[in-house]
Amino acid sequence: MVDSDGVINLQAVPRSMVVVGAGVIGMEYASLFAALGTKVTVVERRPRMLDFCDEEIVESLKYHLRDLSVTFRFGEEVAAVEKHRSAALCVLRSGKKIAADTVMYSAGRQGQTDDLALEAAGLTADHRGRITVDADYRTTVENIYAVGDVIGFPALASTSMEQGRLAAQHACGEPARGMSDLQPIGIYTIPEISFVGKTEEELTDASVPFEVGIARYRELARGQIVGDSYGMLKLLVSPEDGRLLGVHVFGTGATEIVHIGQAVMGCGGTVDYLLDAVFNYPTLAEAYKVAALDAANKIRNITRIDT
Ligand SMILES: Cc1cc2nc3c(=O)[nH]c(=O)nc-3n(C[C@H](O)[C@H](O)[C@H](O)COP(=O)(O)OP(=O)(O)OC[C@H]3O[C@@H](n4cnc5c(N)ncnc54)[C@H](O)[C@@H]3O)c2cc1C
Repeated sequence: MVDSDGVINLQAVPRSMVVVGAGVIGMEYASLFAALGTKVTVVERRPRMLDFCDEEIVESLKYHLRDLSVTFRFGEEVAAVEKHRSAALCVLRSGKKIAADTVMYSAGRQGQTDDLALEAAGLTADHRGRITVDADYRTTVENIYAVGDVIGFPALASTSMEQGRLAAQHACGEPARGMSDLQPIGIYTIPEISFVGKTEEELTDASVPFEVGIARYRELARGQIVGDSYGMLKLLVSPEDGRLLGVHVFGTGATEIVHIGQAVMGCGGTVDYLLDAVFNYPTLAEAYKVAALDAANKIRNITRIDT
């Protein structure tokens, strides 16, 4: 039975593994071991996984992992794990039993604040060891700042570094622009997932109209060269002014190419920039042009009906 620290000390690839928790780390290891041939079962208490990601992209990942024999048990909770000589036995609250060589526990991280005697400094932490901060990463005590995992979501190395820089600037009285709203998320599953901006679900919930432009890697020369037949890039575009509202990528190099969309969004660019730009050929970046054309065509078709 291991967590994400212990898993790197495994001496052999397990034949079977139960991953408890379908968060980012759980899914990264589930896909890694599935690719190595391990029979993986993912148990998740919630009805779906990675619920902050675009649903279509998560569906693509699930399809891909099922193809590698991964079994998903959503809406299920692990009640007990029995350690036997030959294997571990996971007992779910529903009564199901799953035997596995290895059980990996990845059901959330805790702030390591228990032994810090926070109360001596006038601070407290919540039930998961997290400390509350304001927009400048200052705690309720004026001269104490906190950044990184200990302040909670998104708990990434990328954001934590920036939080640290901003906190230091604020503490030293240096002017700073604050954290950008456009924080990319990178998930190193196989295939990778990355996105920036809003998801379809968020826009729908907020009644913000959008059009979807999709490029499939298999339609791109570079996609065919790298043999990626499943990858896709999806743009969410405002039909009103062409602004990019979200960029979602699944497949080879997703965590790299998302930054093109981030730059366009961050500089206030619209889909027109991508329509008019010439991209190197053959590249995966070309997906932006294909997706932009797809979105623009759909918007134009609707405009023609409207007029
Ligand atoms: C398996 C895994 C994969 C990840 N992959 C990614 C990824 O791909 N991309 C990404 O952006 N993020 C990733 N993350 C998240 C990233 O690692 C964290 O968000 C980041 O490390 C947070 O930085 P931090 O400084 O807040 O905490 P940490 O990196 O945990 O640093 C805290 C340090 O404080 C030390 N410490 C604790 N208590 C004390 C004490 N009392 N006295 C002195 N020292 C103490 C600890 O030993 C540790 O070295 C991953 C995390 C995990 C677990």
